[in-house]
Amino acid sequence: ALTIGIVGLPNVGKSTLFNALTKNQVLAANYPFATIEPNVGVVNLPDVRLTKLAEIFGSEKILPAAVSFVDIAGIVRGASEGEGLGNQFLANIREADAIAQVVRGFADSDVVHVDGKVNPAGDMETINTELILADLQTVEKAIPRLEKEVKGKRIDPAALETANEVLAALNAGTPLSATKIDLEPVRELGLLTGKPFIYVFNVDEEVLQSDEKRAELAALVAPAQAIFLDAKLESELIDLDEEDAAELLSSTGQTESGLDQLARIGFDTLGLQTYLTAGPKESRAWTIPKGAKAPQAAGVIHTDFERGFIKAEIISFADLVETGSVAEARSKGKARMEGKEYVMQDGDVVEFRFNV
Ligand code: GDP
Repeated sequence: ALTIGIVGLPNVGKSTLFNALTKNQVLAANYPFATIEPNVGVVNLPDVRLTKLAEIFGSEKILPAAVSFVDIAGIVRGASEGEGLGNQFLANIREADAIAQVVRGFADSDVVHVDGKVNPAGDMETINTELILADLQTVEKAIPRLEKEVKGKRIDPAALETANEVLAALNAGTPLSATKIDLEPVRELGLLTGKPFIYVFNVDEEVLQSDEKRAELAALVAPAQAIFLDAKLESELIDLDEEDAAELLSSTGQTESGLDQLARIGFDTLGLQTYLTAGPKESRAWTIPKGAKAPQAAGVIHTDFERGFIKAEIISFADLVETGSVAEARSKGKARMEGKEYVMQDGDVVEFRFNV
């Protein structure tokens, strides 16, 4: 499954945020194949198109796409040297497709800060340094093994070359995402600083409402994306019905909950998009990488669909809404038959034809 690993210093609000994420797992029951583990939270990707499709098709159910989050223990300064839990726990996020770093921006003198003061820039530096050191250990350990394998002609020498480039960059204190190194040859190492990054600033209302303060924080992490939320408020929102939640949100000057933002921006950062299927039973969004072709998209529903792929009948969401029904879209020439080489577009409404 596509996952985003959550990191951050202790006491920045990770658990509070994560509890809100897990309480939000309304969908879990609809995904029988998804084993929900205690440190995994699944969040729906809000998608208004599904509501519209459900109207057109009279669908009983709506199944949005979802993003999973993996929670890990807090990272402390010196983690890579064995402080705190050491960096064993980082194994949990090696597999993650992206990393979300939670940064404390709320004041609250009742909540102790590990370094004695609220300092977002300093905190991010602490975490990023630990991640660089963790990657450094990973690659230093891998190089002797890669050298042996290259000598024995068991692997492509590109892996070793890349590992040495990575080593040099990390030794210079550069996170891999800030380099132009193609990490594909060393993908198995799961290097943390090479993953897409999102920054989640856990702030109080004052910052949520101040464009200036948010811009200051966002500038610290650009070009990475910044999300602003109040973890405490998020955990309260979860317990409210839609209307009350919307009211509470707007009273703090927000239009979208932090969790929704996190799902949306996380999805985008992972380079994903959705296509849609609809019928009387359900209207559903399916997750694919941007640039995926039709057979790969079919494979997300079932591997047999990919193997037996013949063609896909595609209507764009906008055309379907405009024409009002599949029959009408067909008669107006808005339904296209696409083959194996078709590159899927976000919001395609699809019906696959396949051999079984
Ligand atoms: P973690 O160690 O990063 O998992 O942090 P926790 O989620 O356990 O939060 C640490 C403390 O900060 C708890 O007492 C939370 O109630 C409190 N806290 C978390 N988020 C906020 C927030 O947005 N505002 C305030 N005032 N307190 C918060």
